[in-house]
Amino acid sequence: MSTPVRTRFAPSPTGHLHVGSARTALYNWLHARHTGGTFVLRVEDTDAARNTEASRDAILSGLEWLGMDWDEGPVAGGNYGPYFQSERKEVYDRYLAQLEASGRVYEDEDGALRFRVPDQAITVDDLVCGTQTINLKKQGSTRWDAELKKDVPSNPDLVIRRADGSYIFHFVNVVDDIDMKITHVIRGEDHLSNTPKHVALYEALAAPLPTFSHIPLNLNADGSKMSKRDQGASITDYIEQGFLPSAVCNYIALLGWSPKDDEEIFSPEELVKRFELTGINRSNSRFDFKKCLWLNSEHLRRLDAQSLLEKSQSFLKDQNIPLDDPRLPAALQLVRERAETLTQIPTGIAAIFSDTVEIEADVLGKISGKENIAGLLQGLHGAFAASEDEWTADNIKALIVVSAEKLDVKMGALMLPCRIAATGKSGGPDLIPLLELIGRERVIDRIAALIKVLPE
Ligand code: GLU
Repeated sequence: MSTPVRTRFAPSPTGHLHVGSARTALYNWLHARHTGGTFVLRVEDTDAARNTEASRDAILSGLEWLGMDWDEGPVAGGNYGPYFQSERKEVYDRYLAQLEASGRVYEDEDGALRFRVPDQAITVDDLVCGTQTINLKKQGSTRWDAELKKDVPSNPDLVIRRADGSYIFHFVNVVDDIDMKITHVIRGEDHLSNTPKHVALYEALAAPLPTFSHIPLNLNADGSKMSKRDQGASITDYIEQGFLPSAVCNYIALLGWSPKDDEEIFSPEELVKRFELTGINRSNSRFDFKKCLWLNSEHLRRLDAQSLLEKSQSFLKDQNIPLDDPRLPAALQLVRERAETLTQIPTGIAAIFSDTVEIEADVLGKISGKENIAGLLQGLHGAFAASEDEWTADNIKALIVVSAEKLDVKMGALMLPCRIAATGKSGGPDLIPLLELIGRERVIDRIAALIKVLPE
C-alpha cells in the first residue's frame, strides 16, 4: 500500500494572499483532494518583525473564500500541531539535538550553529523541473546565508540557528515537513535553488524525502515580474471586485497547469477530479485579466438561482436593492447573462427597483444629436401608452416592431433611446425583458421625462 498523500501550504504572514501563493495553495489542496490525502496549513511565522496578525487573517480568510478547506492547521487542529512555527521551538530543539548527535553541527566564530554539508553530489528529482545535481561543499551557500544578510560565501556549511538562539527558516521548514509527515512539497520555483540544501538535511536526519514539485513563476501579461500592486495580484481584489471563488480557482488553476484536452471551464469538483501534478507546465505563466473576467462570466451563468442570490446579496445590499422584491429572481436571471462580475449585477438592474433614473451627460450625448430622436420616442411613448395588452416581453416586442414600422425606422433605432430613457444607461441586460420588469407605468413616465430634456 502506498503512503497516504500529505500536502501542505506554508505561508509566511507578511502581506496579502498573493495570487501566486493562492495558486501554490490550490495545487496542494487539489493534489490532496484528488488523491484522498490530507491538506495541512502551516503558518511560517518565525519572522516576528515582519509577521502581522492582519496578514495571517487575510491569508486564512482568503483560503476560506476560495473554498480550500484544510484538514489540519489553525482552528482545525490535528495530530502534528502546533501549526504555527512560532509555537514549535521545542520541536526544533529536538531535531537539532538529533542532528547534533550525528556529529554534523558545530558553532562558528559568531556563535551561530552550522550544519556541515556533505562533500558529495546531491541529486534533487523535481517532478516539474527535472533532475539537478549539486555538490554543496564546492558550490557554497551564498543564497542561504543571504538570509542572514551576511556575505560568507567561503563557508558552505549552512547556518541553522542564529547566535541569539532563533532558527533559520530553511531548518524549520524542513523539520516541519519531516515532523508533519509531508509526502509532497509543492511550492514556488523561487525555492528550487534551496532544495538541495533541504535534501542534505533530510538525509542527515535520516528522513524519507518527499516528492518535490516546483511551480514556475507567474508573470504579468507583459512578461514582467508580478508585484503586490499589479492588477489581480491580491485575492482581496477579487473578493471586492465581485469575482466568484469557483471562477478564481478555475483561473489560477490554469495559470501553470493544463488538462490534457482543450477544456477550460471547471468547477472546483471537476478540478479535483482532473488535477494531476504531471500536468503542471514547465514554463512561466502569464497573467491574463481578460481571461479571468471571461471565466467569471461563464461561472456566473452556471450558478443555480439560489447560489446566484447568495453570491449577489452583499453587492445588492450595497446598492439598496430590496432583497425581498418578487421581481428580484427574474432580474438576477436576466442580468447574469451579460454580467462579468457580481459588481455589475446591481448596476444592471437598479433601474427596475428605483423610482427615478438619472441620465448622465455622456449617455445622453449618444442620442441627443440624432435626427428626430424626440419624434421616435414620442411614437414609442404613444404606442406603449395606448396599448391595452398585458405588459409582457412578447407584447412589448410587438409594440416596438409596430412603432418602428410606423416611424419608418429599423427596430434597432428605437432600442437605444428607449434603453437610455428606461434605465439611464446605454448598455445592460437584454432590453425587452428588462422593460417588462421595470413595468409599463415607469417606462412610459421615463420616456416622457427624456423627451422633455431633449433638444427640439
Ligand atoms: N514560507 C515559505 C514561503 O512563503 C514556504 C516555503 C515552502 O513552501 O516550503 O515562501
